[in-house]
Amino acid sequence: MTDRAKQMERAELHAHLWSSVSVELLWDLSHEQWIKLPVKDFDAFKAWITMWETDKNADIKEMDEKYFHWTELIQSSPTAVETAIKTTIWTNYRKSNLTLQEVRFNPMFRNKKWELDLDYIIVAAIHWLDYATLQYNKVKAWIVLCMDRRLSFRKNQIILEKAIKYKNRWIVWIDLSGPQSKDFSMEEHKALFDLAKQSWLWVTIHTWEEWSLEELKYVAEVIKPHRIWHGIMAVQDKKIIKALKKNDIVLELCPTSNLKNSKVKDLKELSHIIRTLLKHDIRLTLNTDWAVMYQINIIKEEDLLLENEIITETELNQMYKNAFDYSFVK
Ligand SMILES: [Zn+2]
Repeated sequence: MTDRAKQMERAELHAHLWSSVSVELLWDLSHEQWIKLPVKDFDAFKAWITMWETDKNADIKEMDEKYFHWTELIQSSPTAVETAIKTTIWTNYRKSNLTLQEVRFNPMFRNKKWELDLDYIIVAAIHWLDYATLQYNKVKAWIVLCMDRRLSFRKNQIILEKAIKYKNRWIVWIDLSGPQSKDFSMEEHKALFDLAKQSWLWVTIHTWEEWSLEELKYVAEVIKPHRIWHGIMAVQDKKIIKALKKNDIVLELCPTSNLKNSKVKDLKELSHIIRTLLKHDIRLTLNTDWAVMYQINIIKEEDLLLENEIITETELNQMYKNAFDYSFVK
């Protein structure tokens, strides 16, 4: 661990398992499972699976076919889930002193379109999370199961049922992820979020610029999840800010992700958004989202905000405090 990493313990609430495993390990895992990759050379694979410094890609469909599909396919077996969970937790601790980690994934994107039993995928994740935190006993970790806008209501309901089934075994959060889909209805899914809360699960929801301000407003005012990723559009509507504040909803901020895959133009706009949210006393946390794809870690995200004078050290510390306070990993 570097001296910089040792300076303080950190918490991260928003990291996807598919983009937490190193390129080298993804390459090894794909070969161990005899997966036919679209490229045959390691460097070409790395270029395929990561976004370069200058890349900006807001086309979620292209990303879906490229990054999401291949990384999730490579992680689609109990053995691959074992490697993914263990190495994610170990690496994040050793490199960035992340002593609190929430790792999220969608089990239905790891069961080879129903070839594998969902329970084995989930139990593999639970088991190896237990193991990883035993090996590095300073680390506390949870699993967040993700539902997805591209799945039917019934399939999302099954994911929620699994989260409820395993809720006392390292699964305490349910998320809704994925790009917008014409068949998806947030109103219809309200019943699932209500059931999750009644079942003592915590709720977090992805909202993105691609989706409408109306949907974010509905989420903040009616569904009232405990956290929203990343909800930065809230600065465009005072009513949403008011709802976030009133309902004590925490935002999971992912600066690099915002710059590369959102409609945030540049650092100036990012700064305006973060300063506005802080001015209104909205609770923020700092996260990487898709770390391996962007080739970042939480310390690089700190540097981005501090070196560009977007936040102060005190505000950064408060973001980590919020993450520890609002992860419910006690
Ligand atoms: Zn995310």
